[in-house]
Amino acid sequence: MPVHVLDHPLAAHILTHLRDKTTKPATFRTLSYQLGLLLAIESTSDIETEEKQIDTPLESITARVLGHHPLVVVPILRAGLGMVQPFTDIFPDVSVGYVGLERDHETARARSYYCKLPPLAGRHVFIVDPMLATGGSAVQALTVVKEQGATDVRLVCIVSAPEGVAEVERHHPGTVIHTAALDRELNARKYIMPGLGDFGDRLYGT
Ligand code: URA
Repeated sequence: MPVHVLDHPLAAHILTHLRDKTTKPATFRTLSYQLGLLLAIESTSDIETEEKQIDTPLESITARVLGHHPLVVVPILRAGLGMVQPFTDIFPDVSVGYVGLERDHETARARSYYCKLPPLAGRHVFIVDPMLATGGSAVQALTVVKEQGATDVRLVCIVSAPEGVAEVERHHPGTVIHTAALDRELNARKYIMPGLGDFGDRLYGT
């Protein structure tokens, strides 16, 4: 499966401070935003551009602008919300959809309790979820957006576990995953090790 691990000194620096348990929520939010920006840039590095004729102050040139395939960013609630603004800040025309998932205590599977999506056919769809742990939510979100017509879907995460990557590959083979880190394993409580703890709690100070 195509897993792209962000390889940049600044990403490593930011991630170290995100992992540090002494980092407070305000700083955690800033660092998440900064890493989200790097991931937004990296995960869109292959989107189409088209030619545009412009005049610089000195001469006319044929330059390049983004093509006409609008982007859609889909956060998995709630932690994914922390990765939306980097996309909306650098891609002004991006649409935002939402998928809310919770664990069904009967089946132990992720169940969708909220879903609000713009048209997805013919668009580049980026599902954002900072922690790819068991992969249950990512698999469910991928299923939901594909049912709604998405054909080009990428998963953008901050920290991923090998178990989550394998689960995504099992259910949605070939899905492109962009992540800032591929960690060692899940622990018995399904936290990513070494990880950074509960992302949502650290983001919102809960
Ligand atoms: N979700 C988190 O926030 N952290 C983990 O380690 C795993 C899932």
